[in-house]
Amino acid sequence: MKCPRIEFDLQKIRQNAEYIKEICSKSGVQVMAVTKGYCGYPPVVKELYNAGIRNFGDSRIENIKRMREAGIKGEMTLIRIPMISEAEEVVQWADVSLNSEIKVLQALDNAAKKQEKIHKIILMVDVGDLREGVLPDDLEGFVSEALAFENLKIIGLGFNVGCFGGVLPTEENTQLLIDLAQNIQDKFGIKLDILSGGSTCALPLIEKNELPQGINQFRIGEAIIIGRDSTGNRCVPGTRQDTVKLVAEVIELKRKPSMPIGKIGKDAFGNTPVFEDKGIRLRAILAVGRQDADPEKLIPLTDGIEILGGSSDHLLIDVTDSEDKFFVGKEVTFGLTYGAMLRLMTSEYVKKITI
Ligand SMILES: *Cc1c(COP(=O)(O)O)cnc(C)c1O
Repeated sequence: MKCPRIEFDLQKIRQNAEYIKEICSKSGVQVMAVTKGYCGYPPVVKELYNAGIRNFGDSRIENIKRMREAGIKGEMTLIRIPMISEAEEVVQWADVSLNSEIKVLQALDNAAKKQEKIHKIILMVDVGDLREGVLPDDLEGFVSEALAFENLKIIGLGFNVGCFGGVLPTEENTQLLIDLAQNIQDKFGIKLDILSGGSTCALPLIEKNELPQGINQFRIGEAIIIGRDSTGNRCVPGTRQDTVKLVAEVIELKRKPSMPIGKIGKDAFGNTPVFEDKGIRLRAILAVGRQDADPEKLIPLTDGIEILGGSSDHLLIDVTDSEDKFFVGKEVTFGLTYGAMLRLMTSEYVKKITI
């Protein structure tokens, strides 16, 4: 089969989706499956739909369009705050978008008028992670301006943590969102149906039953597709991690010294490489490179192999201590982190398949 390729195990992904959906629903939380990590790859998203998920979120309008064109039903949310220049497409393809700028709302409202649609908005509040969001003190003023847009409907508030500032979700910052929502509802006499409280890294609040009452949506990517929580540096209990794999092919296999010969300058990416002298080692080169995924983010699944590094098109592994038989043409399989999967999916050199 063609290499390199990324393989999605649909049955295992479905198990993860069903499990996450179940623990969330016990806490009164609806799951929006975040599909950006796999570019909205339709076969995977269809499986999530079959698992009962009806809300999908992606950071790129191209991915949302792709899912729609593949016939995927359910509600689609653009989860990266939109560019003004893409307002028309956002209204055309997404039902909902997350927002934090009046100027963007103005552009969405104009587009919605033209397309004779009502576009739904979740306002993002920054509770401390310092990525997107209106600061809590500015929220009232923001809402009063936003309510003037006739073709937009504010359906809720959301917040984001664990991304830029690495701030973790807690009872306190989650409660803040609930209090703000209460205040907005009282002040303006509107109903906010959605309180969108978190991503994978907020799942511990549900696991420990510490989620404040009122949060009713989680936007979950990583825990479903790969069973991991990078921010919390853990595997999510109850999920599988062996859902997505990379298969790459050996194009050279030779015994070589472990120390380069000659004067050492910088590598192809401007870093100064450091080597340990382990004598002569059996090394394999695989035909996949940094263009496709960072070597450091791949997880060897074969005992005894060590990832040495890579260049833009080559991945170097030391296979001296492996009991597996290596040969030119052999396929080698790796587990993936979320970051590796994301990069592999955006590489047009990597074939995408489901099993
Ligand atoms: C990526 C993203 C998520 C999902 O995060 P995971 O850690 O993959 O669960 C949720 N919300 C926003 C705004 C995001 O950008």
